Amino acid sequence: MQIKRLIGINGGTFDPIHFGHLRPALEVLNALHLDEVRFIPAYRPVHRDTPQVSAEQRCEMIELAIHNQPKFKLDRIEIELGGPSYTVNTLRALKEREPDATFVLMMGSDAFAKFDTWHDWKGILALANLVVTHRPGEPMPSEGEIGRLFHQRWVPNLTQDAGQILDLPITQLDLSATALRSYLSHGDSVDYLMPESVARYIKEHQLYQ
Ligand code: ATP
Repeated sequence: MQIKRLIGINGGTFDPIHFGHLRPALEVLNALHLDEVRFIPAYRPVHRDTPQVSAEQRCEMIELAIHNQPKFKLDRIEIELGGPSYTVNTLRALKEREPDATFVLMMGSDAFAKFDTWHDWKGILALANLVVTHRPGEPMPSEGEIGRLFHQRWVPNLTQDAGQILDLPITQLDLSATALRSYLSHGDSVDYLMPESVARYIKEHQLYQ
């Protein structure tokens, strides 16, 4: 089959967005020759606390952060869907909206290690391919359900619309939104950890104090 539009799906809470989200997304975009990467903020993440900041403000920060990269797009689909944000529902809705697109769900190796606990993970693989990002040289899973899945589905290049798994070594920055929220709440500098425009927005709106 021929892959048409190849779209990377980068989901998260983005509370707030930082360089640890942006640099890996750029490396995946370039390595897989994606047509675009969609940043999809969760409306109500399933496995964690409700974000501190409104969905609208998280979107505004994403927009500021991706402004200079035309292939990065904000997609409000999980906010429009409302309710708890299950990836399988998001992909179903995306597929309905864009039946000709091929979706590649981006996730870190830590998330992939628990992928078999995700709600309807088989449904996810029926709708999208996966790209598992990891530190260079980090071993990929070889045991258990995830090891088997990786072994069965791994491909060097995507050739199908869904169900294939790629892995990609990327530059990982030891950075999390949790750490950034902690810096911000203590009044510490977040320079060089997130785009300046986002830091300015946070200051102006007095977020994460
Ligand atoms: P929090 O600290 O609030 O849990 P976070 O920064 O870890 O947030 P989210 O905004 O929830 O992350 O986004 C999750 C997605 O971003 C996941 O796919 C995660 O693997 C990826 N991600 C987050 N930080 C990094 C990082 N430093 N390097 C690579 N990927 C990252």
